[in-house]
Amino acid sequence: MKKITIIVLSIILMLDSISLYAWGQKGHDIVAAIAEQNLTRKAKKEIEKLLGGNSIIYYSSWMDNLQNSPYWKDGYDVTKTWHYANVDKGQTYHTMPKNEKGDILTGLEKLTDALTEHYDELTDSMKVDYIKMIVHMVGDIHCPMHAGRLSDLGGNRTKVKWFGSNTNLHSVWDSKIIDSSRKWSYSEWASHLDRQNRKFKKSVMRGTYEEWFMGSVANAAEIYDYIERLGSKPNLSYQFVYDFSPMLEEQLLLGGYRLAYVLNEIFG
Ligand SMILES: [Zn+2]
Repeated sequence: MKKITIIVLSIILMLDSISLYAWGQKGHDIVAAIAEQNLTRKAKKEIEKLLGGNSIIYYSSWMDNLQNSPYWKDGYDVTKTWHYANVDKGQTYHTMPKNEKGDILTGLEKLTDALTEHYDELTDSMKVDYIKMIVHMVGDIHCPMHAGRLSDLGGNRTKVKWFGSNTNLHSVWDSKIIDSSRKWSYSEWASHLDRQNRKFKKSVMRGTYEEWFMGSVANAAEIYDYIERLGSKPNLSYQFVYDFSPMLEEQLLLGGYRLAYVLNEIFG
């Protein structure tokens, strides 16, 4: 019995630590699946060759899982803070004190620079790692609570209830809102969202990491305002899902199109 309790407890702790870092697995799979549908033929072929025949969806959460892997201490621990950047109310990325360990913007810029400016100097295994990280991080940069406030650790310290159960705002955005909004698989999400015309795609498959990040900061501000109007520890349920489904769907879609844009620019 004791053993079972310990196993259950360690699974809960593991899940809890994962929730600090990313869209849940489904969110990352949706973003990667939308991206895959919008890769050029050349980019898809090049990338899959490097990934040993696997798709980018297969590795969409690799960067989160890495933290519990035996390789973490082999140099990957420098990526610990690369899943987010925090911006407090009334601040911008530039006026906020920088995380000296790096953040999602400095990380993405470093990886993209290596794959574009120094491609021939990289080993295949470095290219593979960098692709897997970009796939994950372009997802994270579109998750509003990954651009949340430092004062509440990106929503982790903003306590809320979700359909009556205790949780926090970060966790609501990483996965709970996705699971409560639709009972779809990641591929169903991708096929139902990726129905935009060429003009729309062209209008969003552009810009810089910082511009995309500031879009998430604006979304986070809207979410914080909404929560603050409800008072302390609000019980979020169907109304919240209804009110924020359009933002959720838009961010997943933008994440997918822009991931395709980044990869097409590098490999297309
Ligand atoms: Zn992440």
